[in-house]
Amino acid sequence: MNRLLIYNIGHLVTMDAGRTLLRDAWISCRDGFIQEIGTGKAPELPDTERLDAHGGIALPGLINTHHHMYQNLARAYTPIANEGLLTWLAGHNHLWKNLTPEHLRVAAQVAMAELMLTGCTTTTDHHYVFPRGTTHLLDAEYEAAQLMGIRFHGCRGSMDVASEITPEILVQTTDEILKDSQRLYEKWHDPRKGSLSRLALAPCSLFSVTADLLQESARQAREWGLRLHTHCAETREEDALVLQLFGSRPLDYLRRLDWEGDHVWFAHGIHFNDAEVAVLNKYRMGVAHCPCSNMRLGSGICRVNDLRRGGSPVSIGVDGSASNDSGHMLNEVRQTLLLTRVLHGAGALTVEQALEMATLDGARNLGRTEDIGSLEAGKCADVAIFPATTLFSSGAENKIHSLLLCHAREVDHLVVHGKVRVTAGQLVGIDLPRLLEKHAALARNLHESA
Ligand SMILES: [Zn+2]
Repeated sequence: MNRLLIYNIGHLVTMDAGRTLLRDAWISCRDGFIQEIGTGKAPELPDTERLDAHGGIALPGLINTHHHMYQNLARAYTPIANEGLLTWLAGHNHLWKNLTPEHLRVAAQVAMAELMLTGCTTTTDHHYVFPRGTTHLLDAEYEAAQLMGIRFHGCRGSMDVASEITPEILVQTTDEILKDSQRLYEKWHDPRKGSLSRLALAPCSLFSVTADLLQESARQAREWGLRLHTHCAETREEDALVLQLFGSRPLDYLRRLDWEGDHVWFAHGIHFNDAEVAVLNKYRMGVAHCPCSNMRLGSGICRVNDLRRGGSPVSIGVDGSASNDSGHMLNEVRQTLLLTRVLHGAGALTVEQALEMATLDGARNLGRTEDIGSLEAGKCADVAIFPATTLFSSGAENKIHSLLLCHAREVDHLVVHGKVRVTAGQLVGIDLPRLLEKHAALARNLHESA
């Protein structure tokens, strides 16, 4: 039995139905789940590990709903420093022909370290690069997640159409992709409450896959009860390309191929028109908003409030590390707040609403409202504890608001499924300097062999 008591929490943001905020709180956890939440003097519990939150701010663990972790092997890559999406993609895709499971395992560990140290307890990764001849690539990421102790939803990406953007060597056959999806589903998808390992199906983008693959992925997802994910409406160029290739706008094309329903969430979703927003609202289809990447690539601004007002979940994603080029989860929430205000005005999104997107909307997009996204008895014990004050927030009147209004900070402690994974700002059991050394060597190796 695994018992943990987190005590001395200065501010606790529960994200429960009443959006309860507590002062001087404690949380008791048992076997990965929250048993009880209280305020005042913490109980003395037998055989229980105790974690002192030192008056910090506790949030439900943040949920990252879009990423490409392998891209941290090409951060700040000069040839694509100033390019928009399609040229940016073509400008680094050639680097990946020698990507091995070892590259991906280490890249994923680094990406997970960044996420965990910045408050994330559940992450996806949309991995779509499978160089010819490689097998078991996504498995390396599941193994990395087990090593790091983060809750992981692998998104089996895929490309079965080569083009000027996608080199032939990165393309698999439709059949190979569907068979590997089945293998991954059987090996890694755990649908139970509290699961640490799930699978989603995620063809890369409309212009890099066949209609057959989109339709078959939708069929597999329905049959196996999986979520469906892809990039959609990221840039105007992409909309025009899809219109030229298939004679429809992206969402219409996808709907014809059975991509309709509340199990679908799209990355970016910037250029949906009013009619498309209404369709997304009707079916409760979701969007993963990735503000840093959207600004970095000059893609546009997601209509966060229009989508959310009509009932679509809009969660947050750091996106790949060659277009962010960091995976600081709390900073992504801060950027969401700021960028949404650029589009809709200063009163458009409150700190509480931005945090809601990073927790509750994330849980909705991943199909996990029953067990993650809020701190309540019976839910997973996934807790991010940030220091109440830092140099960059000293003097703040509202400590909770300072999390997003001031410069983004790192966690003091992180608990995933009742286990302490970060304490005193350090990852437990992970030699970070050694990991970074290995990562830098693998990045060099990949660039030199490209
Ligand atoms: Zn992406």
